[in-house]
Amino acid sequence: MKTVARSHKLDNVCYDIRGPIAAQARKMEDEGHRILKLNIGNPAPFGFDAPDDILKDVIHNLPTSQGYSDSAGIYAARVAVMQYYQQMNIKDIRVNDVYIGNGVSEMIMMAMQALLNQGDEVLIPSPDYPLWTAAVSLSSGSPVHYRCDEQAGWFPDIDDIKSKITSKTRAIVLINPNNPTGAVYSEALLQEVVSLAREHQLVIFSDEIYDKILYDGARHTCIASLADDVFCVTLGGLSKNYRVAGFRAGWLVVSGNKRIASDYIEGLNILASMRMCANVPCQSAIQTALGGYQSINDLISDNGRLKLQRDLASDMLNSIDGISCVKPNGAMYCFARVDEKKFNIRNDEQMILDLLREEKILLVHGRAFNLHDGVYFRLVFLPHCDVLSPALTRIGRFFSQYSQG
Ligand code: PLP
Repeated sequence: MKTVARSHKLDNVCYDIRGPIAAQARKMEDEGHRILKLNIGNPAPFGFDAPDDILKDVIHNLPTSQGYSDSAGIYAARVAVMQYYQQMNIKDIRVNDVYIGNGVSEMIMMAMQALLNQGDEVLIPSPDYPLWTAAVSLSSGSPVHYRCDEQAGWFPDIDDIKSKITSKTRAIVLINPNNPTGAVYSEALLQEVVSLAREHQLVIFSDEIYDKILYDGARHTCIASLADDVFCVTLGGLSKNYRVAGFRAGWLVVSGNKRIASDYIEGLNILASMRMCANVPCQSAIQTALGGYQSINDLISDNGRLKLQRDLASDMLNSIDGISCVKPNGAMYCFARVDEKKFNIRNDEQMILDLLREEKILLVHGRAFNLHDGVYFRLVFLPHCDVLSPALTRIGRFFSQYSQG
């Protein structure tokens, strides 16, 4: 019988955060093991409840949210997003520049599908949030990874970016604050990226889903506010800042030199119409979230829960012999380097699998983030300190005995 095979479009598509190791963890759970899952940035299961007013608003609007909305989103949500970026100093932004989607994930897919032809190149950070690489490949483009420099606090290496620009380069992607590294980029670095984009006529895609999760006084700058004359696409959403990842509420905003991008914008309109609209009940949460009490600030303040967990995770990882981690200034992850010689590591995926089997803790290996030099893992620091602390002790115990040699 003829087999049913996946399409060749998926040949280079990979999303290992929920890949084979996560499947192994599920199997172990089915066998009765309790697994501590530190692989996904999903705040709700760790007791980060959404602000009450958001929940009330969705419940209140549910009866009147039964129909499709406008493809680009409900008016109140689009106006709220427009105002949000106006306050971030993006100039000349209008309600029609805002598209509401089922999470940033859907908008990343739409943004790439609308842009790319076979062989078009997109500059993507390494390490990256792997959906960007996957979306470029699925849209028949070619992801070209630029180096982020661990020694420089994981900032993008501008010289490396320059060396990778070709006549086929269409766009550059920034993730700021960064997943997986937690880096928050300075205005000076962003200005350098804008200059490159201006010189080589690149579209800037800036994924800013963690823009409110900042520690130790780090300041987030929206790159589009520095780039009035460059076409920019900024993405954000409710999943992390407002802890409602399950609501699937995100947005995409076009700004800067929109005149040169009218055809692309028409492409976005077609794609937005094809999927009808984003989940309507949860679109109503956007205005309330952006305009309401910003409880995220309590979580990241000096004695805030997220900040304390970040400190604990980063300090405990750095105290393990052979592990080091640049302290993250934003987001909810520690991205740790593993001394590959000390542990004779040939395969980082095997290392994560061995940790899972021995300590019942699930992390994500560095190569899942399209980083192929060195050995790394990403740990989500969302659990309470009284869960994180023993987990990190167990990770330390695992590495104190580990060798692939
Ligand atoms: N972009 C980044 C950098 C992320 O880390 C994530 C989720 O982890 C997403 C986008 C997807 O977010 P959403 O839940 O809005 O689809």
